[in-house]
Amino acid sequence: MSSLSWNVFSGGSVTIDLEQCVACPTKACISACNVPNLGSALAAGPDGLPSLGITPERAAQGGCIECLACDLACQSDGLGALTFALPTPEIDAYLDELRAAGSAPGRGW
Ligand code: SF4
Ligand code: SF4
Repeated sequence: MSSLSWNVFSGGSVTIDLEQCVACPTKACISACNVPNLGSALAAGPDGLPSLGITPERAAQGGCIECLACDLACQSDGLGALTFALPTPEIDAYLDELRAAGSAPGRGW
């Protein structure tokens, strides 16, 4: 077992630690991605774990629309196995300032 990852159009990437997903009772990321008007990039694989329902190339071309619905669903109803890495240097610098001041907000910031 390993991880699932794909690149997104903005230059970032998404990674899912499938080892954690085995114990996830909701698989909330999959249902979050498959509501109307979202990307439907995620699907349930034969083992029931998250998998890409489109090719990695298609995901990187915008098939994954970077809406973060899967990330939010995983954080609220899953086990926190999904990580988004997005190229946001201005925000990163701002958060570094907050960290240095001892007041960084929120999870993972
Ligand atoms: S919601 Fe999170 S922990 Fe659950 S299957 Fe999806 S990525 Fe894995
Ligand atoms: S960011 Fe949106 S489109 Fe991409 S996998 Fe997550 S829910 Fe689906």
